[in-house]
Amino acid sequence: MVPSLPRLIPVLLGCGGAACGGDGASRPASEPAVEGPLAVAVSILPQKYMVERIGGPAVSVSVLIGPGQSPLTYDPTPRQMASLAGTRMYFTMGLEFERAWLGRLRAVHRDMRVVDMRGGIRLMPLAGPGEPGDDAGQDPHVWMSPRLARVMAGVIRDALVEALPERRELFDLNYRRFVDHLGQLHGEIREILRDLPARTFMAFHPSWGYFAEEYGLRQIPIESHGREPGARSLSRLIDRAREERVRVLVVQAQFSRSTAETVGNAVGARVITLDPLAEDYANNLRLVAEALAEALRGGGAS
Ligand SMILES: [Zn+2]
Repeated sequence: MVPSLPRLIPVLLGCGGAACGGDGASRPASEPAVEGPLAVAVSILPQKYMVERIGGPAVSVSVLIGPGQSPLTYDPTPRQMASLAGTRMYFTMGLEFERAWLGRLRAVHRDMRVVDMRGGIRLMPLAGPGEPGDDAGQDPHVWMSPRLARVMAGVIRDALVEALPERRELFDLNYRRFVDHLGQLHGEIREILRDLPARTFMAFHPSWGYFAEEYGLRQIPIESHGREPGARSLSRLIDRAREERVRVLVVQAQFSRSTAETVGNAVGARVITLDPLAEDYANNLRLVAEALAEALRGGGAS
């Protein structure tokens, strides 16, 4: 130990003379600028959670779809466009609105790197009501599976390491911690959803396909590609749900409940509200599992 070391530090770090004048321009060229956190943008809150888990203090994350907003009606304001001025990296999630919006953002910020957060994940077809896989559309809700979130964690780590190679150790460590956490979460959810008397539920907006697939549940979607079904497909849907004795209908906070209530009443299903876009990703997934388990067992408030 060198007891006098702490007293040396202010001298080493402090301003020693002309080099530390009022503005950064007087800094010697050889001295690297002290950079703030890497400015990263994402589309939805669960992505923000994931990027922050891995980037820690080395990143600052802005999110396009804030709490309570819907990706289906999203239209960025000029102010929001401007607020993303310093964005160095954008993680996409394959959502519809990104297509239009990214072009505009790219035109303004040419050095921004765009990274598809889904990596090589194989996407499921987005099933329409009554006719599974009747459209070439793909289901974008991949983040709802913690196993697939591990793939995304790897994509985030690689992209951040490439942008800030000097922080590799931090990103690697955070990546391993996060992946461990996701593995644990996966086990917990599997446990919560074991031995249920029924495994089929209806969903107003089909956000739960990957979650259902992961845990042996079945989602019957009401809405198709952001559209409510017409009267004919709605009545077909209700017949099918009655036949299959579906007792649970999931709606999400961002959408209207009225059609869902109508269907729920016609079928005799309990309507529960779950949020696929909550920021507290891990806790929210556990909550989703618990609410579904309770409802599928026939309990829970409507
Ligand atoms: Zn959606």
